[in-house]
Amino acid sequence: MKAATIGPEFGNDHLKIVERDMPSIGNEDVLIHVEKGGLNPVDYNLINGRLIYNISPLPHVPGTEIIGTAVTSGRLINKGDQVIIYNRVFDGTCDKCITNREHLCANGGIWGVITDGGYQEYVSVPEKNLFKMEDYLDEDVGASLPVAGLTAYHALKRAGARSGESILVYGASGNTGMFIVQFAKIMGLHVYGVSRNEWIRSFGCDEVFYRKSVPQDLTADIVVNSLGSEFWEEASRHLSVSGRLVTFGIQTGKDASFDISKVYSRETAIVGSTGGTRKDLHEIISIARDHQLRIKKFREYPLTELKQALSDFQKGHEGRILINMNR
Ligand SMILES: [Zn+2]
Repeated sequence: MKAATIGPEFGNDHLKIVERDMPSIGNEDVLIHVEKGGLNPVDYNLINGRLIYNISPLPHVPGTEIIGTAVTSGRLINKGDQVIIYNRVFDGTCDKCITNREHLCANGGIWGVITDGGYQEYVSVPEKNLFKMEDYLDEDVGASLPVAGLTAYHALKRAGARSGESILVYGASGNTGMFIVQFAKIMGLHVYGVSRNEWIRSFGCDEVFYRKSVPQDLTADIVVNSLGSEFWEEASRHLSVSGRLVTFGIQTGKDASFDISKVYSRETAIVGSTGGTRKDLHEIISIARDHQLRIKKFREYPLTELKQALSDFQKGHEGRILINMNR
């Protein structure tokens, strides 16, 4: 079968498309014929050796956001079912797991980072990580739920988003941004988006601003800055009293400073969020039954053009980049 591999040397130039043996299937596993996956910062950074997590094994198959079709049956998943892969490795026994926080498992990590991922034709995955693709889910949306959708939804829950509140989203038209906008609207928030791309308005933004045109006096109950250092100071400035500043990414750097006195005197909460739980993913799939979720797609690349996809990812792209394993 075809697979993309990277390491022990990193960088786009070291990425290879190779022939590999089929994966071995564990007792609790289901063999999946991979259809497509998303390309996210975590994958890009892994391939370029810039990830904050340890990578195993090496050489490594990247790809953390995947859908496919079951080739074998499990207890509830039947051969032929189309499935979404929940991308956390977890033991199910530590204190985080038994309190429904398996994404923080003491003995786990990100599937596709601490294990081989899904930029290959077949993967073998524990059945507890599989969710059925419902008929009402668009395939491209399904392939965007394990990272982009889940990160967005979990972050809003962590921030305690409530109907009637307002939210200001930096990077509103990005991978996670387009889901934050949609979920926030569904939850009944007033949504301000910061983006160059006017199309994000149709995803549920009440108002869209270019970065430099956010009104000075605009404040929001929740401000999402998934872009890191460069946006930290201005994002903080738009927080209302009792506001929550949400972060889950460091695209422009990981260092920030802030005025501690403003944090306590205005009762600011700084909310970190990473991935999400299986319960979150289950809830998202339920939400999609009543509310049409969508993505904007930039392009879908065959696995053999992964290098081109990575290059375009770096150059900047309007909408999601998807990788098709069968073209
Ligand atoms: Zn655990």
